[in-house]
Amino acid sequence: MEINTYEVVKKQIDIVAKEMELEPNIAKYLKRVERSLIVSIPIMMDDGTLGIFEGYRVHHSTIRGPGKGGVRFAPNVNLDEIKALATWMTWKTSLLNLPLGGAKGGICVDPKDLSKKELERLTRRYTTEIINIIGPDIDIPAPDVNTNAQIMAWMMDTYSMNKGRSIPGVVTGKPIEIGGSVGRESATGMGLYFVLQAMCEKLGLELKSQTIIVQGFGNVGGTIASILSREGCKILAISDISGGLYSSDGLNIEELLDWTRQGNCLKEFKDDRYEFITNSNLITTKCDILVPAALENQITHVNANNIECKIVLEGANGPTTPRADEILFKKGIHIIPDILANAGGVCVSYFEYVQDIRAYFWKLDRINKELKRILLEAFEEVYKVSEERKISLRTAAYIIAVSRIAKAIELRGVFP
Ligand code: NAD
Repeated sequence: MEINTYEVVKKQIDIVAKEMELEPNIAKYLKRVERSLIVSIPIMMDDGTLGIFEGYRVHHSTIRGPGKGGVRFAPNVNLDEIKALATWMTWKTSLLNLPLGGAKGGICVDPKDLSKKELERLTRRYTTEIINIIGPDIDIPAPDVNTNAQIMAWMMDTYSMNKGRSIPGVVTGKPIEIGGSVGRESATGMGLYFVLQAMCEKLGLELKSQTIIVQGFGNVGGTIASILSREGCKILAISDISGGLYSSDGLNIEELLDWTRQGNCLKEFKDDRYEFITNSNLITTKCDILVPAALENQITHVNANNIECKIVLEGANGPTTPRADEILFKKGIHIIPDILANAGGVCVSYFEYVQDIRAYFWKLDRINKELKRILLEAFEEVYKVSEERKISLRTAAYIIAVSRIAKAIELRGVFP
C-alpha cells in the first residue's frame, strides 16, 4: 500500500482547520507550496559514463522568514514527499516561534551506489542547480536522511565559490571547523530527550524504568537510543534499513553504534544474546516508549491496532498517518508529534545560523540550555491546549503553529 505523503499533509490541514475553524482562504493558502524547483543533475561517474539524477528544492512558506529544511538523498525521494516535508518544516519553525519558514530538498539516489568522489560531484552540481533559491536570506538547507556534515561542507563551499566569498550561513549542520555549531549533530536526539522527560513527568512515569524500541539507527535514532540507554532505560530493540535486533534483557547500544559507524548494517551483527527482528515486527513489539526515527508512514491503520506502548515519540518526520493517529488516540497512546518531538534539530540549526551571521560562537552549555528552554516552552503550550480542548498533542501543536502563520498571512496580506 503506497501512501502519498503530501495527501497526508493536506488531510492534516483539514483536521486542524476544522478544529480551529480556520478561515477557508487561509486553509487553501496553506495547502500550496510557494515554489518547487525540479533539477536534472548530470555527473560524470568514475567509470566514464554519464549519470543523470533528479533533484528537488521546495519552499512551502517563507512568510515568517527564510526557508529552512533538510536535504535528503534516498532512492524513493519524489516531489510530493519533498512538498510534504517542506510543509512540516513550516509548522515546526512556527511552533518553536523561530523567525524561519519551511523548505526541503532532496535527490532521488541511493548514495550507497556512489563513490565518495561521485557523491561530492552530485552534491556540488545539485547545489549549483538550486543556487538561485538558497542563501542565508532565502532558504538554508541542512542534513536529513543520508546526508551529513561533509555534504553540508561541500554545499557551503560550492555556494561560496559561486558567490566569490565564504558564506557559512547558507547551510547548517556543517563541520565545526567551517562555522558549524557545537551540539548540532546530537540536537535532534537531545530535543527528543527533553520533551520525553517532560511528557513522563506529566504522566507520572519514571523515565529510567521505561522500556524503549527505536526504529532507525542513524543520526536521530542512534542519538536518542544512546541517551536513553545512558539514562538507564532498557532498549529492547533497534533497527535500520536492513532490519533490527531484539533482546528482552536490553541491547548494548554503544557496541552497536560502534558497529554501524564502521559502515556495517545491523543485520550483519551476529550475537547469541540478540534475535533478528523485521522492521514491521519491531513496530508492534510491546514496549513503553516507541520511537519511530526512520521514515514517513511507518505507523498506519494496518498496524496501529497492534501497537502496544504508552508513548510514541516521533523522531522521524511523518511516521504516523492520520488514520493511525485516530486509532492510537482512541487507545489512549500519547503521541508526541514530530513537529515538537524532533524540533531540536531545526532549533540548533537556527542557533548555528545566528552564530554564523554574527560571527560569534557559543559554548555547548549555552546551546543545550537555550534548546531546552525553547522546546519546553513549546511543549507546555502544546500540552495545555491539548488538555483544554481534549485533543491530541498533534492537533494542539498544529493549532499553535497554524495560528501564527495565519496571523502572518493576515498581517502581510495576499500580494498584490
Ligand atoms: P539518517 O540517514 O542518519 O538515518 C536514517 C536511519 O533510518 C538509518 O539507520 C537507516 O538505515 C534507517 N532506515 C532508512 N530506511 C528505512 C526503512 N525503510 N525502514 C527502517 N529503517 C530505515 O537520517 P536521520 O537524520 O536520522 O533522519 C531520520 C528521520 O528523522 C527522518 O524522518 C528525518 O526527516 C528526521 N529528522 C532528522 C533530523 C536531523 O537533524 N537529522 C531532524 C528532524 C527530523
